[in-house]
Amino acid sequence: MIHDVEKVSGGRIHVWRRTSRRYRRGRIVRRLLSSWSVLMLSLLVLVGGVALARQHLQHQAEVRAGLGAVDTAHVIAALVVHRNLDADDFAQGDLTPAKRADMDADVAELFRQGRLAGLKVWHADGHLIYADSERPQADTQLSPAGLRRSHAGEPWVEAGPKSVRGRGTLDVFLPVDAGAEGGRGGLVEALIPEDRIADQVRRSTRQLNALAVVVLLAMIGILALLRRRLLSREYEALHDPLTGLLNRGALAERTRQAVAAAQATEGRWAALLILDLDGFKAVNDTLGHPAGDVLLTQLAHTLRGSVRPHDVVARLGGDEFAVLLTRLPDAGQAETVARHLLDRLRECSYTVHGVQLSVDASVGIAIIPTDGRDTDQLVQRADIAMYQAKRAGAGVATYDEATDPHDVSQLVLLVDLRRAIEAGELVLHYQPKLQLATGELVGVEALVRWAHPTRGLLAPATFIPVAEHTGLMAPLTERVLQQAIRQAAYWRDRGLTVPVAVNVSPRSLLHGDLPGTVLRLLAEARVPSALLELEITETAIMTDPDRVVHVLRQLHAMGIRVAIDDFGAGYTSLAYLKQLPVHTLKIDRAFIADILEDEKDEAITESVIVLGHKLGLSVLAEGIETPAVQRRLRDLGCDEGQGHHLGPPMPATDLTAWMRQYAAAERASDPVDDGLITA
Ligand code: C2E
Ligand code: MG
Ligand code: MG
Repeated sequence: MIHDVEKVSGGRIHVWRRTSRRYRRGRIVRRLLSSWSVLMLSLLVLVGGVALARQHLQHQAEVRAGLGAVDTAHVIAALVVHRNLDADDFAQGDLTPAKRADMDADVAELFRQGRLAGLKVWHADGHLIYADSERPQADTQLSPAGLRRSHAGEPWVEAGPKSVRGRGTLDVFLPVDAGAEGGRGGLVEALIPEDRIADQVRRSTRQLNALAVVVLLAMIGILALLRRRLLSREYEALHDPLTGLLNRGALAERTRQAVAAAQATEGRWAALLILDLDGFKAVNDTLGHPAGDVLLTQLAHTLRGSVRPHDVVARLGGDEFAVLLTRLPDAGQAETVARHLLDRLRECSYTVHGVQLSVDASVGIAIIPTDGRDTDQLVQRADIAMYQAKRAGAGVATYDEATDPHDVSQLVLLVDLRRAIEAGELVLHYQPKLQLATGELVGVEALVRWAHPTRGLLAPATFIPVAEHTGLMAPLTERVLQQAIRQAAYWRDRGLTVPVAVNVSPRSLLHGDLPGTVLRLLAEARVPSALLELEITETAIMTDPDRVVHVLRQLHAMGIRVAIDDFGAGYTSLAYLKQLPVHTLKIDRAFIADILEDEKDEAITESVIVLGHKLGLSVLAEGIETPAVQRRLRDLGCDEGQGHHLGPPMPATDLTAWMRQYAAAERASDPVDDGLITA
């Protein structure tokens, strides 16, 4: 049986699956992006990036400073060396005392101006030609490395002594030629004070630091903003906007965790409770949706306040809530908590728009891990238990595998039916109704079927009674009415004007605003009320005759014809029949089937025909399966007939073809003797 339950898992479950999968994917990304550690990591990367950039820019500043020092050395070489020394001095590799004195004088001036801290001139073979008088002449020979570099002909810069006359220096080596006449020159080594260069570098560094701080602050601001937005997105993704409770996706995730925890630890229990309000629709219908919203918010508050902090309360949509009880000492506790929750809901008083309301609900329980290994299964089973509780009026029910298989499959159907109505899986077949005397087509009856994705085409008997016991009858009737009215419009637009009859269950007749709904749907499809007929059963009439009379009068005033269906199978008080503004009596097929053999059936049928005519009603016989039965009914004066012999229920497209064929046959011959056209 459980196999069956799983096989029939409905779209509701698929929707659940999809939301939870999408939720899980989104959640990982959101979590990652909004976590502090990721934020800190990005900051760290950012700081590293800024430090690298700063280092790079500082290096650039130093290179620029070095180039500046080389330029200065060029000027000094021109001012001092080339002005005082010529090719002969370089060729001899020694200076006359006079030249040395001139050099000293120029160098002293540059020292005074602070543009130079020391000067040496090296011969091309590496021996010292000149050194300023201020520094000791330790080296008189250029190092072999220096000599090699000088032969390359390119200037280079080295860090000079840290303190020459109290200042840091850069040592610039500048290969020079021997003056205007050319020839072998040497190497000028100028110690350039680095104050100005250092100033430059310091200024650049300061600017860089300021820039880095601004960039960092801006980035921190952006990251914080991003994090806030992600957190609010995370909140929206996890919560129901109306009540602030967790939503379906978040519950799926928590249930998954609870299942994993329960499976990992022996003796650890959890339970998924699904709670559906009883009669919530009435609140919406009578007080309006805003009032319904207020009530739901108050209920959410009560629920949250009635469980332990580590339990999870979620809203699944509409008036359906879920509670995930974790860390239960034993499975039996779940039912105790569920009853406690119901008591709390009933005890609390809810005042909505000045109206005091009391609330009741039904709760279904699935135990974790025994009732399911994944969220989908648990939700489905808790749902089934909830419907069981609702049907039995028990308040609380725990899922039980051993429940009557038929019962469970009915409940599975019900769980599915909700979705099927929304997904448009309900289809209508249409059965012709013929005038027995003339064979004229007088109308068609819309009969609902459910095109179930796994079970095939289901007859109304399998799901209408289930829908009757829950709040699904109203949406079902509305769907059927809408489809039937649209179909009538479609036929009318193609020259096949035919009234369409829709079956209305007692519940739809007695609750809600049937006349209002019908009026709206007719207006939407621009269909006149004469093209719609409603069929109501005797049961409906006797449940609340006064209300039925009231509703039928409204429908009558709108110009809608009403037939009493399955007449004779129930107990209509003839007194009411007199008051009811109906047009047709449909004799139940139970009396028609054996009319030729059973005299009593024939007597009843004849009496109903007479009764109907005396009350000014037309009479239709249901379930005509043979030409002989059709003839007998016509002889008894029955006005109209319906049955497999006259035309079975068929899809709209088949009926379109049937009607065209029927009209053509009628035109070709005078009224067909027995009105038979086989589809
Ligand atoms: P109903 O309104 O009395 O519809 C006539 C039923 O008799 C249909 O069964 C039809 O298929 C069947 N039938 C027609 N001709 C013959 C015949 O010659 N022999 C026999 N044995 N049966 C025949 P179906 O479609 O299974 O519908 C059963 C009932 O379900 C309907 O009885 C109606 O009460 C209910 N129903 C169908 N559609 C709707 C709907 O849209 N809303 C509601 N509330 N009830 C519906
Ligand atoms: Mg009917
Ligand atoms: Mg009937």
